[in-house]
Amino acid sequence: IALVEEAVLDVKERFYEFIRTYRDRSGQYKYMNRIRQMITMGQKSLVVDYNDLYVFDTKLARLLIDHPDVVLRQAAEAVQDIVTSEAPEYAEGIERFRVRIRALPKTTPLRGLRSEYIGRLVMLEGILVRTTPVREKIVKAVFQHCTKESCHEFEWPPEGEIVGEELEKPPTCPVCGSSSGTFRLIPEKSKLIDWQRIVLQERPEEVPPGQLPRSIEVVLQDELVDSARPGDRVTVVGIVRIKPDTSTRKKKAIYDLYIEANHIEVSQKVLEEVKITREDEERIKALARDPWIHKRIVASIAPAIYGHWDIKEAIALALFGGVPKLFRDGVRIRGDIHVLIVGDPGTAKSQLLLYASKIAPRGIYTSGKGATAAGLTAAVIRDKTTGEYYLEAGALVLADGGVAAIDEIDKMRDEDRSAIHEAMEQQTVSIAKAGIVAKLNARTTVIAAGNPKFGRYLPNRTLADNINLPPTILSRFDLIFILRDTPNPEEDRKLARHVLQAHRETELIKPEIEPELLRKYISYARRYVRPRLTPEAAKLIEDFFVEMRRMSSENPEGPISITTRQLEALIRLAEAHARIALRNEVTVEDAEAAIRLMKAFLESAGLD
Ligand code: ADP
Ligand code: MG
Repeated sequence: IALVEEAVLDVKERFYEFIRTYRDRSGQYKYMNRIRQMITMGQKSLVVDYNDLYVFDTKLARLLIDHPDVVLRQAAEAVQDIVTSEAPEYAEGIERFRVRIRALPKTTPLRGLRSEYIGRLVMLEGILVRTTPVREKIVKAVFQHCTKESCHEFEWPPEGEIVGEELEKPPTCPVCGSSSGTFRLIPEKSKLIDWQRIVLQERPEEVPPGQLPRSIEVVLQDELVDSARPGDRVTVVGIVRIKPDTSTRKKKAIYDLYIEANHIEVSQKVLEEVKITREDEERIKALARDPWIHKRIVASIAPAIYGHWDIKEAIALALFGGVPKLFRDGVRIRGDIHVLIVGDPGTAKSQLLLYASKIAPRGIYTSGKGATAAGLTAAVIRDKTTGEYYLEAGALVLADGGVAAIDEIDKMRDEDRSAIHEAMEQQTVSIAKAGIVAKLNARTTVIAAGNPKFGRYLPNRTLADNINLPPTILSRFDLIFILRDTPNPEEDRKLARHVLQAHRETELIKPEIEPELLRKYISYARRYVRPRLTPEAAKLIEDFFVEMRRMSSENPEGPISITTRQLEALIRLAEAHARIALRNEVTVEDAEAAIRLMKAFLESAGLD
């Protein structure tokens, strides 16, 4: 401790020097510029890149990691001094300045947090799954102490601010030194700070197979509150703290870890989470030049599953996706292709979905009931131990920017049944309950499977009759496939041979393109390729749509009504087909592929 105190002695001075003298590569006084910017923008926090500090003074940077409380307080004082000399009136009006640190050299995995981190600065990455509404926390309490003789007020704690959530009564009065009499908190006179609790969860791609995702509570204070929403992927820099286990009333020696955030950043770059190296890029481009690339990619989806080519092709197109359109008037049309498989039990629906979720960037596999109380969309939930209301994100929000594979979608919760309409078309989830009002992003591709209502698919009934989903939800799927398990000696023999061979020689079943590379291929295509329709392709789609409409009007009782939605679906499918070949033009060939799949869907649904 003595050593620390010695080191701390000149922390403030070193920080002062750092801010005053640090120059970036272009020779600019980076932090003095930021201080001036702070003053013009009316802000009170200075954001420091950890690496700059490390370059300036390695020892100081290390001290910051090990003793963030002390160092950050000193640093804030340095900022205060500098602002005071730059703009004294501005500094007057600010209660407390803060230094916020971003981009530590390494992230600590959520499941790697242990006792040795307590009190230290860490950086964590995860998905924000829950938030409470913004509340006010007392950081400096004002108490009134009354004895028989007199009453007087004092601030508590006398030095510094309250850390953590407990407000302990002063053991003795600092004014008169007595411990008798009454102590009364005066909240109105106390100093308050905006406060919010959020829960950060491991990203699905980081969870080891077969394990549940871990999560940790993070406290946001001051201007950090409401800076991220459930479903956002965030990077948090903060101090590891402990608080008593709240699950029982009894005093125990058991404590929970939580993070007091110092800085939080929302990651915009959905697809940059998949790292693509130079060599990867070369391999991807080489693959794309293969005239058989479409077949090879379809063959790479669940190779252990025999047949189901149309479904695999639909899944492939959904993984690549169409191009979202944003019009000048703010209207947005989704590029995501939603696919539904309705089928008899044991027809590999679950296997296909699992595989799709594994190769999709940001893929989530869940059942219709949802893995958590938030289900598929979102929910306001009351925490049993603290009584706090939370807004919690469901699967479609957590997979924002990616793919949600929803198995047994027919069993979804009633709340989701109404909320999923908005999620699938507008790609947002709105919720208003218990004082929480929020709109969350759900720009998510849905690949879903459902079981027939009567146990087996009855071909003499309509599609809508066969599945326990309202037509309004069905109409939001771009493609629907019906999988019937009907005996067919020739096909059955081929299926049996395929399955038997897979079981005898497991190493023989390997995908054309290994999942790791395919995942990179998909995120590369989604990131860089934005195909546009050529006039010829547009004409083909137009003609087909008019023909579909004509046919469906002749059969008004038909299983599916053909609307503009199908036209948009055709465009998306054609775009996705072009994307697979990394082409920026949607050609006649792409349009034909889209039309072929749409026909397969309409035929299997009984419209031909
Ligand atoms: P569902 O979800 O449709 O009820 P599952 O995906 O659980 O069915 O599949 C049941 C089992 O049958 C799985 O082990 C799957 O591998 C196997 N199976 C079903 N259809 C096929 C197929 N076409 N080719 C290979 N295996 C299959
Ligand atoms: Mg299943």
